[in-house]
Amino acid sequence: MAILGGGQLGLMLGQAARSLEVDVRFLDPSPDACARAVGPLTVGSLDDAAAVLDVAFGADVVTYEWEGVPAWSARVLVDTEHLVYPAPDVLQVAQDRLLEKRTANALGLLTADYRPIDTADEAASAMAEIGTPALLKTRRGGYDGKGQRVLRETDGLAAAVAELGGRSLILERLVDFRREVSVLAARGRDGEIVTWPLVENHHERGLLRTSLASTGDDELQGHADRLVVALLDEFDYVGVLAVELFDVDGELLVNELAPRVHNSGHWTIEGARTSQFENHLRAILGLPLGDTSARGCAAMLNCIGVLPDPGAIATVPGAHLHAYGKAPRPGRKIGHVTVVAPDVSARAERLAELAPLIPSDG
Ligand code: AMP
Repeated sequence: MAILGGGQLGLMLGQAARSLEVDVRFLDPSPDACARAVGPLTVGSLDDAAAVLDVAFGADVVTYEWEGVPAWSARVLVDTEHLVYPAPDVLQVAQDRLLEKRTANALGLLTADYRPIDTADEAASAMAEIGTPALLKTRRGGYDGKGQRVLRETDGLAAAVAELGGRSLILERLVDFRREVSVLAARGRDGEIVTWPLVENHHERGLLRTSLASTGDDELQGHADRLVVALLDEFDYVGVLAVELFDVDGELLVNELAPRVHNSGHWTIEGARTSQFENHLRAILGLPLGDTSARGCAAMLNCIGVLPDPGAIATVPGAHLHAYGKAPRPGRKIGHVTVVAPDVSARAERLAELAPLIPSDG
C-alpha cells in the first residue's frame, strides 16, 4: 500500500498495518518524515507527478494521510489505473471552504452563514449581510486556525481582506456554539458504514488540545451519524472521514471535512474496539469493518512543542504516551496521551492527574 504523506497519521496507519500484515510505503517532502519508522519513505513533493507515480508503482491501493495532497496528483493515479481511496473528488471539496459548505448545504446540512468574497464590493455586501462578529477565512490552505481573522467591528474588514490576499475568501458568521464535536466514520468498498462515538474537542490558539470521547448524548449521536452517512454516501466514500461540527444547543453545524484519519480519533487506538487507523485500512482494502464501540471512557491530550516524561505518564492508570519521533518545535504536534477510565468521573480524575504532567509549549 502507498500512502501520500508521511506524518504522524501515516505513522499510526503504518503501525495498524502491521497487524493486518500489510506493507506500507510513504511519499513525503521531508527526509525526516516520522512515518519512515514503519515503512520505506520516498522523499519528494506531493505535487510531483513522477514522485507520486513512483511511490504508487505496484501498490495494490493508494491512500493519503494529508488532505493537502493536490487533487490532481490523486487523479493522475486514478487515470493510470491505480486504486485510490478516498476518491480525489472529496479532496477537492475538503480543500475549499466554499465547496465544503455548499456540499453540506446541498445535502440539507447546516453550516455557519457565509458569503464568498472575491472583490472589495463583495466584501462590503458580505459584511452587510453577515454582520459582526464574523470570521474572515481564506477558502484554501488554512488549517489549525491559520489564514483567519476575527472581525468584531465592520471597520477592520478592508484591512483583513487585504491581509488575506483580497480574493478567494469567505466571510462566516461567528457561531456561538455550546461546544465543538467531531464525528468519525468509516465506509467500506461495499458501502458498509460504521461510526465511532461522538468526540468533544477543546482547542487553544487554533490547535486541538483535548478530545473527550463519547458525549453520552444519544440524540446528538444519532444526528451526527445521519449527517456523516449523508456525506459518505454522497461521495461514494471509502475510508475514514472526520467531520468537525459546532453543537449549537443540539443543532449540529458542519465546519470542516477531513477526508482521512483525524487527530480527534487518536483515542480509538486504546479506547475503541477497532481504531480509526485499522478501520481505514480495512475499508480501503475491501475487508469487513471492525466494531467501533468504546472500551471504557477515553480522552486524548495532544503534546504540542514538548513531550512529557514517559515515566511520569506511566504513573497514571490507563494512560498511554504516543511519541511520534518528531523534532520538538513550538506549536508542533509531537505526540499525544490517551487515557482510558471506567467512567466519566474516573476519567476526570485521571485527566486532572495528567494535566500538570503535560508541559505547555508556552
Ligand atoms: P477551522 O480552521 O475552520 O477549523 O477553524 C479553527 C477553529 O476556529 C475552529 O475549531 C473553531 O474553534 C473556530 N471557528 C472556525 N469557524 C468558526 C465560526 N464560524 N464560528 C465560531 N468559531 C469558529
